[in-house]
Amino acid sequence: MLHRIPLAGFNPDSLDTLLQENGIDKRYTRRLLYWIYMKGIKSFSQINDIPKSILSILGDRFATGLFDPESSCCSADGSIKYLFRNNSGLIYETVYLPDGKRNTVCVSVQSGCRMGCRFCATGINGWRGNLTAGEIVNQVISLPYKATHVVMMGMGEPGDNINEVIKACRILTSEWGLAVGRTKVTVSTVGIMPSVKRLLEETECNITLSLHSPFPEERSVVIPAEKSWPSSSTLEMLKGFNNERNRRFTVAYVMISGVNDTMRHLNELTKILSGSKLKINLLPYHSFEGDTHVSSGPNTIMMFKHMLVTSGIEATVRKSRGSDIAAACGMLVGERLRIKN
Ligand code: SF4
Repeated sequence: MLHRIPLAGFNPDSLDTLLQENGIDKRYTRRLLYWIYMKGIKSFSQINDIPKSILSILGDRFATGLFDPESSCCSADGSIKYLFRNNSGLIYETVYLPDGKRNTVCVSVQSGCRMGCRFCATGINGWRGNLTAGEIVNQVISLPYKATHVVMMGMGEPGDNINEVIKACRILTSEWGLAVGRTKVTVSTVGIMPSVKRLLEETECNITLSLHSPFPEERSVVIPAEKSWPSSSTLEMLKGFNNERNRRFTVAYVMISGVNDTMRHLNELTKILSGSKLKINLLPYHSFEGDTHVSSGPNTIMMFKHMLVTSGIEATVRKSRGSDIAAACGMLVGERLRIKN
């Protein structure tokens, strides 16, 4: 079958070049990007303001690069998990989280993940491939609902696919792209330092560091990346960044009973976050099949929040969503995999 280049993932400059190389006037670039990113067209025949002769060339040589999810399932709490399959057969999941006026889409950046975090079903199932910027933004464009916020917290580690993640961030926030406000896009990472540096320098998105333990020796058991990229260095980088545009830098802390929810952990967390503008988001833990760990109870989570806030640290507790459809944090593995296993 003829391989058609997908246009989702292009920016104005790269599309200018591609069109010119194909003998098409670059004045059509902005219109094409509008139809792809804003209108979410699956076929060039849906375009009504570009001559048919041009659309015919486009249809012969290119694809829009947008496609619908293969399946979906709904949680009792209103969140919806979608399964996508790209042209190469890679499967990955996306979660839609409606909450009043806020509609968040949690996208995947890889199919699987090679970071091997101990309490994450995605990591345990291994890595199958990277997604392109077009495939990342397609997860926002091709849902039947409009997103107000986008978080890269689905399958995969953004820092391990940083070129495509940076491209996707720009498409999401640019006026020629989806024009989601820069304050409404958040990239979550285990803290691969060169990638965090690039996110700081080359995007305007918010950054969340998955911490899960303030002690390096304990964190490296849960998040092996700690050995190569110490969280203390990433935290220093975030604290030292000249944050003139008030980007939101957050620490995510999944609370596991008896593992990271003791007073010793609380005291150390307070020590490393005090005096900084970093926020902390406390999350209940979601056990998965065959897992003996359980979440800290609501009283412990609220006690952590209270003590952190009293110490002058902005702390929030994230609501648990979608756990009945395995759509909560660390539960995404891909429907096909779950059936196979
Ligand atoms: S927590 Fe994130 S980085 Fe770690 S294995 Fe899971 S998907 Fe990968």
